[in-house]
Amino acid sequence: MLLFQEQEEEIIKRERFIERVSQRLKELEASINQMLEEQATIICELNNVIDQIREEELKIRSCKENLRKFEERAKVVKKAEEYKALLREKAKNEDCIIKGEKRLKELKDLRRKLESQLHNSSRRQKLRRLEEEKAELLKEKREVEQDLDRHKADLESLKRNLGEQVFEEYERLKREVGFPPFVKADMGACSNCGTKLPTLLYSKLTRGEKVRCPTCGKVLYQ
Ligand SMILES: [Zn+2]
Repeated sequence: MLLFQEQEEEIIKRERFIERVSQRLKELEASINQMLEEQATIICELNNVIDQIREEELKIRSCKENLRKFEERAKVVKKAEEYKALLREKAKNEDCIIKGEKRLKELKDLRRKLESQLHNSSRRQKLRRLEEEKAELLKEKREVEQDLDRHKADLESLKRNLGEQVFEEYERLKREVGFPPFVKADMGACSNCGTKLPTLLYSKLTRGEKVRCPTCGKVLYQ
């Protein structure tokens, strides 16, 4: 019967371990997802900024083109009115270039900032660490799960070998006093509740007879 208990203890130990690992895996998963989401947001912003830079560059180029044309058109203008209008247009284009270049500089600064966030080495290291820990835990979990299956199979074969009756008695004891039904007697005292055994019970125990703790009812062994 002690063998049943030992097997069950092994099983419980592994089940607890798997539970702990699963919990940690959940936490890791959440952190990894959060980091990936942040990364996706940065990439999205970065693409947006790159589009804006392209637009701004096109706008500046077309304003510059207009300025170049101005020189040619100024040569053929005859009326003063037309010339004034042309000058206004020239001023507008010059303004467009100045503002555009200022905006372009801001956008390029922003792009640099986003790129350095994206390639930030401590962020990448952190993500790599989390992923490594996850892989390691998954491997460990799989191993313990296989080990657990083996112990469960061992328990089953133990049941078959020792017979249903012994197992039933073991289960009954468990229901009666809780798990584990067997506890060690330490220097003549129950290691579950600390009760010191009366001399009579103690001598029975040393003779190898089955003795139960008078207080908690666990079966004692030496
Ligand atoms: Zn006890």
